[in-house]
Amino acid sequence: MDHQALAELLFPHITKTPRDWLAQYPKRQLPEGAKVTRFAPSPTGFLHLGNLYGAVTDERLAHQSGGVFYLRIEDTDAKREVENAVPILLKTLAAYGIHFDEGVNDQGAYGPYRQSVRAEIYQTFAKQLVLDGKAYPCFCTEEELAAIREEQIAEKATPGYYGRWAKWRDADLDTVRRALEKNPAFVLRFRSDGSTDRHFKFTDQIKGDIDITENDIDHVLLKSDGIPTYHFAHAVDDTLMGTTHVVRDESWLSTLPFHLQLFRAIGSKPPKYCHTAQVMKLDNGNKRKLSKRKDPEFSVSFYQEKGYPTEGVLEYLMTLLNSNFEEWRLANPDKAYTEFAFSLKKMSASGCLFDIDKLNDICKNVVSRMTAQQVTQATLAWAEAYDPSFAQLLAKDNAYTEEIFSIGRGGAKPRKDLAIWSEAKAYMGFFFDELFTPDYSWSLPAIEVERILTRYQELYSEQDDQSQWFEVIKALALEMGYAPETKLYKKDPDAYKGHVGDISMVLRIAVTGRQNSPDLWACMKILGRERTLQRLAQAASSL
Ligand code: GLU
Repeated sequence: MDHQALAELLFPHITKTPRDWLAQYPKRQLPEGAKVTRFAPSPTGFLHLGNLYGAVTDERLAHQSGGVFYLRIEDTDAKREVENAVPILLKTLAAYGIHFDEGVNDQGAYGPYRQSVRAEIYQTFAKQLVLDGKAYPCFCTEEELAAIREEQIAEKATPGYYGRWAKWRDADLDTVRRALEKNPAFVLRFRSDGSTDRHFKFTDQIKGDIDITENDIDHVLLKSDGIPTYHFAHAVDDTLMGTTHVVRDESWLSTLPFHLQLFRAIGSKPPKYCHTAQVMKLDNGNKRKLSKRKDPEFSVSFYQEKGYPTEGVLEYLMTLLNSNFEEWRLANPDKAYTEFAFSLKKMSASGCLFDIDKLNDICKNVVSRMTAQQVTQATLAWAEAYDPSFAQLLAKDNAYTEEIFSIGRGGAKPRKDLAIWSEAKAYMGFFFDELFTPDYSWSLPAIEVERILTRYQELYSEQDDQSQWFEVIKALALEMGYAPETKLYKKDPDAYKGHVGDISMVLRIAVTGRQNSPDLWACMKILGRERTLQRLAQAASSL
């Protein structure tokens, strides 16, 4: 076969050589050990937990080593592309503290970073492969491919386009020329030199040593529109862009033998591969992969909608990513997670188990350590996007909102009431008259409740500090013939009708409208005299 003639026949418009491109993408000048990683999403508008898991890994590997982390948009499948997917994705990643050094708005010296505008580059490398006898055109129709598959099934042969099934592998130039005249659209296939009889050892940076079977399939490199498949674009782009570490989902492991062949075929050294384990969950005691269809929590948008603090999600992801992160966090409660020495060796090689209860706990901790101002800002930002009328209330008097969020905050043991911003309304909505919908489920008979409410309205003083306030409640308990202290009541429950706790429960229900609330004295203080009295009266009149 005259490879030169075939290459010119297939790619007459390509005048450059791979060498020309390589000259435009010089080797990166980076310090020893610096890693170059990339996040390479298809702009489908869907970002899942696994993507975020990978992105954090990429980001940490690059930035921790003084390297480069870049964005590459893998938009070779126009059918799957969703409008505005990229800016939304960038905004989401930025919220999780993930920033790129190159690739955003095509900034950077190793672009363009959008695969759809790199056709000439891929075709240049493809032409060279044809010249080297390592690729060939295939004109098989869908029907012909289906017929091959059927024959393979009948013969119990392994399916695929390979060896004797690869109809166009050894077609001569004239046959190709005639086919091209009839139909100029062809796919370009790789001429595999592999055999499934041969195995080799491969070291993955996460999975360790694995045994790999060679690839013998003549996979497609360029589709009939001249646009590459993921595989070919991966080899060409990661070569030119100088990627040192490819972090990707383990589902790509099956095509790794082909990728290694491709790097060899284009004469470049493959990057180090880090195949990440899939995120799993327990479902009725069985471990299974998180699924887009079944598990809303697989989608990153779920965490945005529910208002999970991004710091909490990140913190949880770090515990999933590195088995020693939690231990480090205990020893370093105030350090930024970026100070942790992230390591590929500490990553799970099999599935990592996602546990939403643990995420919630972590979020509670994270929120409890935030300042009232931070909580106010984050809740407001969440509400502006997902609950605008609540946002209006929160923003009406910022100082008031901050005061509410400051209850129980600070000190050695801050309260852990709140995990996610969407819970804020249920937690503190009663501070706003507009949201005050009391549930008067009294724990005492109405007559007692009425006596307590009436008398307390006389005793209440806005000036009281917390201990004076409690003294008043204790005095009221005595007056009512209740035990002044829970302790006493516990000692001899029969001797008393009720205890001081019953008094405060009545007051709590009246003032906050429910049985659970933040510190009641603080609530009354923030609500102020007028509103407190008004609520006590409202409750009394409801009886
Ligand atoms: N575009 C591929 C994906 O979204 C990227 C995989 C890779 O990082 O190489 O799965």
